[in-house]
Amino acid sequence: MADIHLLRDLQTIDTETIAKRRELSDVLNELKGSEELQAARIISTNSAETLTKAEAKQRDAELEMGSLKTKRNQSNDKLYSGSIKNPRELKDLQMEVESLDRRIALREETMIEILVGVETAQSAKDDADILLVELEEAWVQRLQELEKRKVELAIAIRDLQQRRKAQVARLPAATYKRYEKILVSNKGLAVVPLVRGNTCDGCSTSLPQSMLTKVRGGGIVNCPHCGRIIHT
Ligand SMILES: [Zn+2]
Repeated sequence: MADIHLLRDLQTIDTETIAKRRELSDVLNELKGSEELQAARIISTNSAETLTKAEAKQRDAELEMGSLKTKRNQSNDKLYSGSIKNPRELKDLQMEVESLDRRIALREETMIEILVGVETAQSAKDDADILLVELEEAWVQRLQELEKRKVELAIAIRDLQQRRKAQVARLPAATYKRYEKILVSNKGLAVVPLVRGNTCDGCSTSLPQSMLTKVRGGGIVNCPHCGRIIHT
């Protein structure tokens, strides 16, 4: 096989290797974790904390309400028990019962707000938990796919490396050295086809007739603009 064809096939191997390595890097990156899942975990934890706080507020409010009602009932019982005869004392007690009733009415309004708060927090937590479970399940599945793909890519890259080694061995050392130099300076693309009959596919420069003749004859020709090796 002519050197130019060996170089073309070597480029195919290298291009494929670059693509596989890039994909492997993406897979490894994705394996580090899902940002979406991480965010859902934080939202779930935060919503649980919000609910706990709302429930504690509800318990405190219920206790306070209970104690206010007990106090009101005791004062009320005392008021109508007939044990207090002094009109001044009776009036004070009457006022105390009225004041407690007002406080109870106010607390009842607050209690409604607190209950709505608990309900809202519960609902937000339920939604966050449902989403979290969905994402956890999806992540477990994705993780399996990624692990599988990681192994496939590692094997493919190893095979490509072996093929590359064999291909390099078939080339004259000087030709390979020339290829490698262009490969490094051109981001992994050293050999490109001639397109539209006279143009370098690497940089879209038109080649002079003398070079085209050499390319068509199977010689190793470098593009005068980008330096890549051109094949037909
Ligand atoms: Zn070029």
